[in-house]
Amino acid sequence: MSNNPQNPAERLWREYGAAFAALDDLTLARWMAQTLGQVQGKVWRASHPIIGLYRLLSQIGQDRHIWLKRLAAFPGAYSEAPCCRAPLLPMFTRDILEHGLICHHCGETAVAFADLPEDLRELSEPWARTYDAVHEVAHWDASQQAHHASYDEEFEKAARRAERLLGEARSSILPSFLDHYPAIIWEDHDECLEVRADDIG
Ligand SMILES: [Zn+2]
Repeated sequence: MSNNPQNPAERLWREYGAAFAALDDLTLARWMAQTLGQVQGKVWRASHPIIGLYRLLSQIGQDRHIWLKRLAAFPGAYSEAPCCRAPLLPMFTRDILEHGLICHHCGETAVAFADLPEDLRELSEPWARTYDAVHEVAHWDASQQAHHASYDEEFEKAARRAERLLGEARSSILPSFLDHYPAIIWEDHDECLEVRADDIG
């Protein structure tokens, strides 16, 4: 979710977004507000097409400061994100301890971990620490790898554990976020461990 144009994934999203560049501000604002209404009340994979569509709309919207123009009212359940004043649509990632909930609009921290409601901190912290240890395997240096007979096997095992952990987060942790936020998106992949969205059941 960085806004770094050097990032190949970011470049691709910019290319996708070009299809919507001709939208006028009012149409864009209404479409975004309507989509926020449609995603309300649910836990969403980041890979879900409606979230992808919203991301395309919102990257144009951010460039045009669409929410500051007050062209369309966003659904009342959404508060204003402190980072960029867009409606707060938070994303849960494996880096929640370090970066908190990420703003789907600007990619910055929307809610720092310390500012999360207590029940969410208690649910997320043990999960994130366990996940971190599993994720680390992808970043072992040569000497750490040498401690194991087969690094490939360790990597595979870590990837399978990561898939399970992400599945657990989805079913056991994320629904509680809906007690505090109108919708929640979760990062349903781990590029370092080569876990893809369709690996997570
Ligand atoms: Zn933001």
